[in-house]
Amino acid sequence: MLRTSSYTIYVALPESTDEMLLVHGYSGAYDRVSRSVAEYLMSREPGPPPVPLYGEWSAEPALQRAEAGQQPSDSTLDVLTKRGYLTEMSVPEEEGHVARIIKKRHMRASQQQVNYIFMPTYNCNLRCAYCFQAHMRTQQEFRHLLRTMTREMADRIFAALPAIERQHGIEDDERTRTVGLFGGEPLLKRSRGIVEYIMDKAREMGPTQFWAVSNATELQAYEDLIGPDGISTIQITLDGPPDEHDKRRIHADGAGSYAEIAPNIDLCLARGARVAIRVNVDPANLADVPRLAEEIVARGWDKQRGFSVYTSPIVPNEHVGIEATFSTWHLDQAIDELRELHPSMRVVGRPDDGMQSLARTLIDRRAGLPSMKTSFCSAHTGMYIFDAFGDIYACWERTGDERVRIGRVLDGGEVEMNGWAKVWHSRTPASNPTCRKCRYAFQCGGGCAVLAEGQKGKFFTNYCDGFADRFRHSVAMAYMDHQAGVEVEEAVRVCDL
Ligand code: SF4
Ligand code: SF4
Repeated sequence: MLRTSSYTIYVALPESTDEMLLVHGYSGAYDRVSRSVAEYLMSREPGPPPVPLYGEWSAEPALQRAEAGQQPSDSTLDVLTKRGYLTEMSVPEEEGHVARIIKKRHMRASQQQVNYIFMPTYNCNLRCAYCFQAHMRTQQEFRHLLRTMTREMADRIFAALPAIERQHGIEDDERTRTVGLFGGEPLLKRSRGIVEYIMDKAREMGPTQFWAVSNATELQAYEDLIGPDGISTIQITLDGPPDEHDKRRIHADGAGSYAEIAPNIDLCLARGARVAIRVNVDPANLADVPRLAEEIVARGWDKQRGFSVYTSPIVPNEHVGIEATFSTWHLDQAIDELRELHPSMRVVGRPDDGMQSLARTLIDRRAGLPSMKTSFCSAHTGMYIFDAFGDIYACWERTGDERVRIGRVLDGGEVEMNGWAKVWHSRTPASNPTCRKCRYAFQCGGGCAVLAEGQKGKFFTNYCDGFADRFRHSVAMAYMDHQAGVEVEEAVRVCDL
């Protein structure tokens, strides 16, 4: 007995009331169908979609359920079955089938991917109010964390990398490694010695690409290390035009930082590095983003190769309440509205531009292989973050809290992993009772673990962040761009938090 697969996604097209797009969650199929076919599928759904344990799924587009007897032709039914929209599996059988696919693919992804991030220090020369590490610089009991990594510790960590790679089944690998630099502020002038040492040690192991998340206030001290052969991608934050930025990204004495950062953006671009400007937005600075866009255009940055700007919502943490933040979906819509009003906003990316590029791969195989996520981010596959103490973390948002470290590098480079490694590396939509039932499981990957835990007190639960709306919107926009022959743009960003 055929029924509609629980993983069928219906996407309304703004330009058509007669047709819709269908996307299938795990077969990777997408099809443009008549509304009556979509209504037929909707009428064969096994019941109302499961309600998430905690709200946030948005309803599928409103469709009338097809009348009994209103059935597509046999050939259409055949195609719908072959492409996965109709299935003979029962609901629990299909859920089990999905869980098995996720587990298998996740294991494969974990075997292929190891990313390293070095934190030369948790210290930072700025005091941004929304920083998740603010307590480390303002509360006495955390000040011991502000040490800088020593060369001995860097040696220990590099001695540990082959053992970590072996755990992922990677041996004598000749692929280029990636090493990220994160902090605190990783590129403080006084950390130059250890950063250069880390880069030299990485190159001794083999070809390496370097990237950094920096506040860019002291980048002039790294001029010769920046460029395609050195730190080739740098994410820099500007939280508005100079006056607004200087209220948010401040030094300990309250002084602003824009005047130090702007020349260093010029420096990075002149050195041939890719610069991704991140704009952290909340309801209080949204209206200032167009003035930042004008500033970027006036400085000519947008014309330079490798330069891009994207917006990201400030996320709730222990220093910022959820009521003072945007969801990604709401910010995405707000940026779209500002684009209508301000021509210079064309240079500023929406938070979901990256999702639109991924949605394009469903539709246009020339845009790349369709992405099927088995986890939300690389914290659940192979991200290893090393701090100055030799502690290893999976996610930078939890760095510095040794209760959740996933392991330690011991003397001589021995690696000691603990139970947290298993917890982090096993979080997939399949390990989560809500996400494994979700039709978006393969597109979303289960949401950010840190935000799920922060909002709901549980690690293995969903954090949807408006994903259903965002994905359907992205697919519709990607489809229309494809029809109009618009080229796919690459979005550069490191992590959305
Ligand atoms: S903060 Fe969330 S999305 Fe970013 S690395 Fe950590 S778990 Fe992943
Ligand atoms: S897969 Fe994503 S959208 Fe679906 S329930 Fe989980 S977090 Fe929410």
